[in-house]
Amino acid sequence: MIYCVEDEKNIRELLIYTLETTGFSAKGMANAKELRTALKEELPDLILLDIMLPGEDGYSILESLKLSRDTRGIPVIMVTAKEAEYDKVKGLEAGADDYITKPFGMMEFVARVKAVLRRCSKQEDDKELRCGDLSLSVGKHKVRWNDTSVELTRKEFELLQYLMENKGLVMSRNQILCHVWGYDFDGETRTVDVHVRTLRQKLGEAGNLIETVRGVGYRIGV
Ligand code: CA
Repeated sequence: MIYCVEDEKNIRELLIYTLETTGFSAKGMANAKELRTALKEELPDLILLDIMLPGEDGYSILESLKLSRDTRGIPVIMVTAKEAEYDKVKGLEAGADDYITKPFGMMEFVARVKAVLRRCSKQEDDKELRCGDLSLSVGKHKVRWNDTSVELTRKEFELLQYLMENKGLVMSRNQILCHVWGYDFDGETRTVDVHVRTLRQKLGEAGNLIETVRGVGYRIGV
């Protein structure tokens, strides 16, 4: 799923049309508010972000995307009429993955979208998280403790990945619920406790790395 944040209806529809005919699914938003509503429903694989928007501009949106744990990993391509080198640098420094200046050819546009998606999925595949002798390979979906492989369910894996990505930080039960089970999950925070318990059992000795912080949540590695 690709989100296109663009206030000019014709351009927005052209972008969506181009993406859909290339085989992507895409949705359009006219401003920051619509984007935030959409993000609550589904996190996209990529966001195309116009800079000149009514109300909150693209830079400000980019900044807030990079500040939030849920959205900071989503690649962003800035799409804008501004041609100045200064704007380009500003966008890239703020964490944009690429930059396209209007007007642009649709072939170039699609090529850039594909390049950014390829680059970002490769990084994700190669990512290996470590905590002492415990290692977790995101792409291979494998967990190893002292060279012994540990079999986990999908949710246990995602829970461990989330804790390891935030090594040393206490994550609250609500944060864990939101991240691993999603915004809309209707369950209780007890779900987290149950999964942590089985995760610890499966990890054996390495289960001790997961610390319960009373009244707050869980932490791995200090
Ligand atoms: Ca605009």
